[in-house]
Amino acid sequence: MGDTIFGKIIRREIPADIVYEDDDVLAFRDLNPQAPVHVLFVPRKAIATLDAASAEDAELLGKLLLAAASYARQEGLAEKGYRTVVNCNEHGGQTVFHLHVHLLGGRPMHWPPG
Ligand code: IMP
Repeated sequence: MGDTIFGKIIRREIPADIVYEDDDVLAFRDLNPQAPVHVLFVPRKAIATLDAASAEDAELLGKLLLAAASYARQEGLAEKGYRTVVNCNEHGGQTVFHLHVHLLGGRPMHWPPG
């Protein structure tokens, strides 16, 4: 556990454009942005997928979403709106197996997401 690219970013073993951090959460810009603002919010705790999260992670999951909402507000995205996404496993399109919340904003989003 923890030995993913995001684990390496958390441990400062590889660089990232970090925009927010606290004791539990780190946020950095996505390397391949899908919107003008595309930031990933990751828990320092290495949880592989949303499916692997348990009741003891409830507060941490809430912190991830609140950190994303706070950052969106700070970046002026809240009024027009934005999207948060958690991909889980193969059909969800997850490619990095360290739980993360995508924050996408700065353009209109489409539905269904595909
Ligand atoms: P997933 O598909 O939901 O697992 O999202 C993984 C995201 O991580 C993708 O949007 C990638 O572009 C992004 N990503 C992969 N490696 C890096 C990195 O080293 N820095 C920042 N973002 C990354």
